[in-house]
Amino acid sequence: MNRLYLPIIKRAFSTHAPKKKVCVVGAGPAGFYAAQHLTKCTTPLEIDIYERLPVPFGLVRFGVAPDHPEVKNVINTFSKTAENPNVRFVGNVSLGSDVSLDQLEEAYNCVLLAYGAEENRKLDIPGENLPNVIPARRIVGWYNGIFADATLPIDLSCTNVAIIGQGNVAIDVARMLLSPVDLLKFTDITQHALDALSESKVKEVHLIGRRGPLQAAFTIKELREMLKLKNCSTVWCDRDFDGISELVPNLARPRKRITELMLKSLTDDIKHEKVFRPVFFKSPIEIAGGSRVERIKLGINELCGDQLPILTNRNETLNCDLVVTSIGYKSIQVDPSVPFDLKRGKAISNGGKIRNGLYATGWLATGPTGVILTTMNNAFGTAEMICRDLESGDHSVKEGFEAVSKHLNKENKRYVTWNGWKKIDAFEQEQGRKVGKPREKVLSLEKMLEIAL
Ligand SMILES: Cc1cc2nc3c(=O)[nH]c(=O)nc-3n(C[C@H](O)[C@H](O)[C@H](O)COP(=O)(O)OP(=O)(O)OC[C@H]3O[C@@H](n4cnc5c(N)ncnc54)[C@H](O)[C@@H]3O)c2cc1C
Repeated sequence: MNRLYLPIIKRAFSTHAPKKKVCVVGAGPAGFYAAQHLTKCTTPLEIDIYERLPVPFGLVRFGVAPDHPEVKNVINTFSKTAENPNVRFVGNVSLGSDVSLDQLEEAYNCVLLAYGAEENRKLDIPGENLPNVIPARRIVGWYNGIFADATLPIDLSCTNVAIIGQGNVAIDVARMLLSPVDLLKFTDITQHALDALSESKVKEVHLIGRRGPLQAAFTIKELREMLKLKNCSTVWCDRDFDGISELVPNLARPRKRITELMLKSLTDDIKHEKVFRPVFFKSPIEIAGGSRVERIKLGINELCGDQLPILTNRNETLNCDLVVTSIGYKSIQVDPSVPFDLKRGKAISNGGKIRNGLYATGWLATGPTGVILTTMNNAFGTAEMICRDLESGDHSVKEGFEAVSKHLNKENKRYVTWNGWKKIDAFEQEQGRKVGKPREKVLSLEKMLEIAL
């Protein structure tokens, strides 16, 4: 038989109708959970996940603290999704620079944006640019292997640290700075961070919040970890708790439990070499210093009726030689046609739908709050809406990856497939095995591409 007939015969006898094409931008939890749900749509779909980096998993790889390996188990579920025959991972391709939203909307029946929130918010106070004033996002990147943060100029020859913000990211950074290095040695922490932390002189970490104990943003699990930390005493300011115990009986259950835990751990007794000091009712006004930060001026707040902090005219000074700002993340607008709330740093959508064929999910859509579970629920909801819209919408089938790959090849853009990621994964695990770690992350884009391609 003439070889040229083969593909035609195969198509003519195929029982599979052509599949509609969906692409997801961002291979973090939102992207993977959405893709997982989309594989179950009644309309058969081909799903392509485009990721800016050569490696998948977003903040599960680059955000979650190294000493929380159990949180990273979601990677197993994501990998199963990636290995579904209808799912394709396309790494090292960035929306905005390698491919435009126009091109994706042209090539796909549906585009789902799930590119997260990677910028940090600024305090906008004097002194924020002094040496050793560092956003938590960059410290997280430094210990988790973000390329650009590998050379972070963090000076740990200091004893006193002020962290501005009291969310779980702030508490992660506090724990990493105060943990005995022996507890971190066998995690996937980067070697440069481990070396620097081994030499660290940090003794005291202040965790500064604008509001009071009843509004504390950290969760009970993270607080318990701090209370149990070896070689570290948690010391509260008793005054912050004036009148709190009387309010406990009327609190809702989760708030009641965390407040009881704080009250139970009130002590003046510093038993250990290192100290963790959560501080309430304070807002930073000014950071001061010379060749590096030396002190921070904190305004004292009172809470008004709706629990919002109002600055009084009283303030105090805290001496510190490292300031970490941890007041939240924000998304960026990669394409001007996507309506965007610049103040809240998130895309504007109607429950995830931006316009016909274009959707957003995860931190990009909700704003940068919520854990992986919250993100999962949001992604499942958006994917369900997409399934419904695709079933009832027009029945044309677009070209999908075929069109985009032509463009990438024309531009000589090297992209990483799932098998390419598996090579990087195997390499990192092998490097880790040599030093007793689950993995030693590759810290350069070029090295990743060399391994993957
Ligand atoms: C420091 C930190 C620690 C955390 N720890 C925990 C924890 O212990 N437990 C927990 O449950 N939750 C934790 N969270 C929350 C959790 O990480 C988020 O809920 C979740 O990652 C949000 O998922 P996402 O997919 O929306 O965003 P992301 O995880 O940020 O994923 C977005 C993906 O999009 C990619 N991308 C960005 N721009 C582009 C582009 N232009 N083109 C293509 N791709 C792009 C990114 O590289 C990334 O892979 C933590 C968050 C942070 C910041």
